[in-house]
Amino acid sequence: MEERKNEARYEAMLNQLRLANSELSAALRAAEEENRAKSSFLSNMSHDIRTPMNAIMGMTSIALSHIDEKPRVLDCLQKIQTASTHLMDLVNDVLDMSRIASGRMTLTEEAFSLADMVHDITIIMRPQAAQKHQAFHLEVGQIYEENLIGDPLHLRQILVNIIGNAVKYTQEDGTVHVTVSQHPEQEAHTVQDTDRRIWLDFLCEDNGIGMSQEFLQKIFEPFERVNTAAINRIEGTGLGMSIVKKLLDRMGGTISVESEEGRGSRFHVSIPFAPAPAEERPLPAGQTVLIAESMDSRAQQIAEYLKDGGMDPVRLQNGMDAVTWLAEAQYENRMPCALLLGQELNDMSALDMAAHVRGLAGAEFPIIMIAEADWVQIEYRATRAGVSAFVPCPLFRSRLYAALSELTSKAQRSRSDHTGKPLDYGQYRLLLVEDNEFNREIAIELLSQTGVQIETAENGLLAVEAFENSPEDYYDLIFMDIQMPVMNGYDAARKIRQLPRKDAESIWIVAMTANAFVEDIRLSKEAGMNEHCSKPIDPDRLLEILRKRLSYNQ
Ligand code: ADP
Repeated sequence: MEERKNEARYEAMLNQLRLANSELSAALRAAEEENRAKSSFLSNMSHDIRTPMNAIMGMTSIALSHIDEKPRVLDCLQKIQTASTHLMDLVNDVLDMSRIASGRMTLTEEAFSLADMVHDITIIMRPQAAQKHQAFHLEVGQIYEENLIGDPLHLRQILVNIIGNAVKYTQEDGTVHVTVSQHPEQEAHTVQDTDRRIWLDFLCEDNGIGMSQEFLQKIFEPFERVNTAAINRIEGTGLGMSIVKKLLDRMGGTISVESEEGRGSRFHVSIPFAPAPAEERPLPAGQTVLIAESMDSRAQQIAEYLKDGGMDPVRLQNGMDAVTWLAEAQYENRMPCALLLGQELNDMSALDMAAHVRGLAGAEFPIIMIAEADWVQIEYRATRAGVSAFVPCPLFRSRLYAALSELTSKAQRSRSDHTGKPLDYGQYRLLLVEDNEFNREIAIELLSQTGVQIETAENGLLAVEAFENSPEDYYDLIFMDIQMPVMNGYDAARKIRQLPRKDAESIWIVAMTANAFVEDIRLSKEAGMNEHCSKPIDPDRLLEILRKRLSYNQ
C-alpha cells in the first residue's frame, strides 16, 4: 500500500519535472531565437551601414585626388550625396524600429484632415512616380467623414512606405494606383455615438515586379528583401514593411498583401479613427456657381458637392461657351458667385479661359481652379492669368467649400486682390536660432537667396531676448534649432509663446533639427511650433515653408 503511494508521488514529481523541463526548453529556444534575431540584426546592420560608408569614403578619396577635374569631383559628390541619404534613411529606420520595440513610441490623438493627408501624400509621391514615367493615380472613393482624430504623422509614414515601395518596385512606364475610401459599414451610422470608429481603407496596387508567395510569408520581418539582382540594385533597408506592420498593430489596423511575381502587388490597409467635428463654413447658398469642365465624372462630382451645400450649379464643357454665358450673365446682371474652372476644356486651355474671364468680370470675381496639377509649379502663371484660388484633386468636399467660402465672403475678397503680386520676401524679417556656426552659415546661404532679412541668435535664451526686445510684429518667422546650449529650442519656443504680447501667439516658429522622427515632430508641436524642418536642410523644404508663411501674409 505504502509502496503504491510512493510510486504515485514519484510519478507526479516526475511529471512536474517533465513540465518544468519542457517550459525551460521553450524559454531556452525563445532566448536563442531572440539572440539569433539580435545577432542577425546586428550583422545585417553593420553590413548595411558599411556599404554606403565605403562609397562615401571611396568617393571622397577619388574626389580629393582629382580635385582639379570638376566633372569628376561633381560625379563623386553626387554619389556621396546618394550614399549619405541612404545612410540617413537606415539610421532613421533603425532608430524608429527600436523606439517602437521598446515602447517609447507614443501614438497621438489629434484632429486632422484626411484631405490634407491625401494631398501631402500626392505631393510627396507624384514627383517620384513621374521620374519613372509611371502613371500615378490617387483616387478618393466614398468618404463620409473628412475630419478625423488619430495619429496623422504615423499614418503618413505608413502610406509613404507602402506607396513608395509600389513606385520603387515598379518598372518605368508602369502603373501605381491608390484608392482611399471609408469602410462601407460606416455609411449608415447613427449620430452621437462617442465610441464610433471610422475605418479607412487604403488600397495600393502596382503592376511592378511583384513577390513570390514564399517571400510574402516573411515580408514583415526586419531586413528581409527579395534576394534578386534586380532588387539589390534598388535602394532599400528592408525595414520599412516591418515598421509599417508594427505601427499598424499599435494603431489597431490591419494589412494584407497579395502579389504575383512579374505581375504586381496589391496592399490593403485598414485603420480605425475616431470622427472629429467638421468645421462649419458659411457658403453662398442659393447662388449660382458656374462649372467649366469637360470631364464628365469630375463635373458631376463638383455639381453634387455644390448641390449638397445648397448652391445652384450650371455646367458648361467648352471655354468659349462659358465665356459667352458669363458675358450674357454680366449684361443681364445675374453673375454667378464664382467660376469653378476644371482641368480640361475642349477648346481652350484653362489658363486662357481664366484670363478671358478675369478681363471680363473684374478683379474681385472668384475664379477657382480644380485640377490635378502641382500648384507650386503653375502658381506663377495661374495667378497672373487671374486664378484666385486652387483646389487640388483628388477633390474633397471640405477643400471646395473652404475655397468657395473664403473667396465669396467679403472679408477675404480684398485679400484676393493681392494674388497677382510677385513673390518677394525682401520686406520680411526672420530670426535664425542656431548654435552651430557651420549650420548657421548654410542656413543663411540658403535663406538669403530669397531676399529675406535674416537676424541670428546663438541659443534659445538669446532668441527669447531678441524677440522680447523687438517691437511687435518685428519678426515674421523664427527658425529654431532644437539642441542648443543654455536653452534648447523647445523651451525657447514655449517661453516665446508665453510672452505677454500679441505676436507671441501668432509668430511662426519652425523647428530645425537633426532629429527626424515623428516623435520629435510631435514634441516640437507640443512646444508650440508650427512646422518642422529636419537637417540636413533641404532647400526646397525651406522655400516651401517661406512660401507657405510669407506669401500668405502678402
Ligand atoms: P525596402 O527598404 O527594401 O524597400 P521594405 O521593408 O519596405 O524594405 O520592403 C521589404 C521588401 O519587400 C522589399 O525589399 C521588396 O523586396 C519587397 N516589396 C515591398 N513592396 C513591394 C512591392 N510593391 N512590389 C514588389 N516588392 C515589394
